[in-house]
Amino acid sequence: MRHALAEAAQAALTGDVPVGAVLLGPDGSLLATGHNEREATGDPTAHAEVLAIRRAAAALGEWRLSGCTLVVTLEPCTMCAGALVQSRIGRVVYGARDEKAGAAGSLWDVVRDRRLNHRPEVVAGVLEEACSAQLTAFFRAL
Ligand SMILES: [Zn+2]
Repeated sequence: MRHALAEAAQAALTGDVPVGAVLLGPDGSLLATGHNEREATGDPTAHAEVLAIRRAAAALGEWRLSGCTLVVTLEPCTMCAGALVQSRIGRVVYGARDEKAGAAGSLWDVVRDRRLNHRPEVVAGVLEEACSAQLTAFFRAL
């Protein structure tokens, strides 16, 4: 999560909301990282999680991320939760909860919806205070 926080700090350099993600292989090795690049690239789908998923899949040479873990500083939104289910990822670890738009336990729980055919394990609230503080500081400075 500390690596994800450092990745999130990169997003703020381009005026992007500081959200960072790291994607680990089944053996715990680092496959990919990502941070929000919506402002940097003008791409509405350029969330940290989506970028990390795309890069990890490219690194592995396949779309299935079975057994992999995504660590992200903010609870995934509906788009990212959908992408995580589509990638068949094994585990999602996040820091700050997003009561307004979170789709991994707060507003929705897309990743653990029993109607879907894949449900990753979810670990919430890791380094939650540090993750929340980083976001709060960004929005306060606007
Ligand atoms: Zn998202």
